[in-house]
Amino acid sequence: MSEPLTFQDRIAKLCHEKFDTVVADIPDNLAGRKVIAGVVMESKANQKFDVISLASGNRFIKGNMLTTNGQVLVDSHAEILANRGMRRFIYCQLKKLWKGEETSVFQKCEKGKAAVIPDVKFHRYISTAPCGDGAIFTHSTGTSSALHDGHHHHHPIFDDTKQGLLRTKVEQGEGQIPFKGVDGVVSYQGLDVVRPGERLRVMSCSDKICKWNLLGMQGALLANLMEPVYYTSITLGTLYSHGHMARAMCCRLEKSSKIESLPHGHKVNHPLLGAVSRKDDPKRSVEKSTAHSINWNSADDCPEMTDGTTGLLHNSGFIRTDRTKSRLCKEELLKSFKENCANAGLLNLVKDDYLKTKQTSTTYQTCKIILYAILNSQGYGTWLGLPRECQEFGTSTTPAVGRPQSYSQVVLKKH
Ligand SMILES: [Zn+2]
Ligand SMILES: [Zn+2]
Repeated sequence: MSEPLTFQDRIAKLCHEKFDTVVADIPDNLAGRKVIAGVVMESKANQKFDVISLASGNRFIKGNMLTTNGQVLVDSHAEILANRGMRRFIYCQLKKLWKGEETSVFQKCEKGKAAVIPDVKFHRYISTAPCGDGAIFTHSTGTSSALHDGHHHHHPIFDDTKQGLLRTKVEQGEGQIPFKGVDGVVSYQGLDVVRPGERLRVMSCSDKICKWNLLGMQGALLANLMEPVYYTSITLGTLYSHGHMARAMCCRLEKSSKIESLPHGHKVNHPLLGAVSRKDDPKRSVEKSTAHSINWNSADDCPEMTDGTTGLLHNSGFIRTDRTKSRLCKEELLKSFKENCANAGLLNLVKDDYLKTKQTSTTYQTCKIILYAILNSQGYGTWLGLPRECQEFGTSTTPAVGRPQSYSQVVLKKH
């Protein structure tokens, strides 16, 4: 009882406590507690740790619900939604920076871009191992690899050719299966085959986090406005195996040799990895899985409930709203991007459609091709992108200025 909390215990505790507050008025069966992920910001200067984004969920959209208007959430796994909430927080902070208001997160740097203040760090929490390479071998190894020295050295396990493979979640399927495209380093499922019945496949969370560890977690749009930013640590609640996590999160990129000469600002990020030292509240781990997800971030400061299988808001009667799309969907994040570009005098970065706008971040795009080529050359398979048609929606319908609709939702008391 009196054991001091480890760093990982503190990160987990902050996330679970905040999540409990956020869902206090939402019935447990709708809160989707099965997997919870969070982002904690550390400010060294004032020795503060603040939860800035949280999400629950472990589903993704049904193929026949995919749309071409950018208004649905494709992947509602908690880790992915928490990262999107983080981007909303970033947009909100950047907006302050362009307007000359005070921000304790960003500073202006050369070339007019923003950079995170060196004193500020971001930590990730996931209540269990991320799906794909980081989770799939965890049961098959002994307990020794679950221990680690608490230092920042990674000791990845490579003792099977199946380890390190890129894997996709598969619609109506259990687990994540390896993906190898016909040729090239990246492949796309066509919307014309997904809608009538081919099962939609979405990259596993381990693969997406690995991508962030090279490209930064800000994504393509924000890469135009800021230097890449990386997670300093990743903490798991359960199912932690150091060797498998190290390989899946980052070390598989450098299995055969160190990667040198990446574009400016980029690196292979090897975050501090660890797990909570005490057993999680058993109520959480046995909780039944639900299609619902909750997301919260400190910029919007209210919960939003979505249905992972439709990718839309879930109007449960507990969180009442007249909207259908989530604030985390592509269209909404694009709207935030446009608003920031307007404030920063960079509207020239906004092209006709979403995909073309993403491609204006040339350094990021170069780095992405390097990532896919590295993964492919190591024999891990092919990166599978979202159907292109889902990214070609026009940018003109999303206003660049003016406050988007209110994100406040009415949370009704549970009885
Ligand atoms: Zn996942
Ligand atoms: Zn590593």
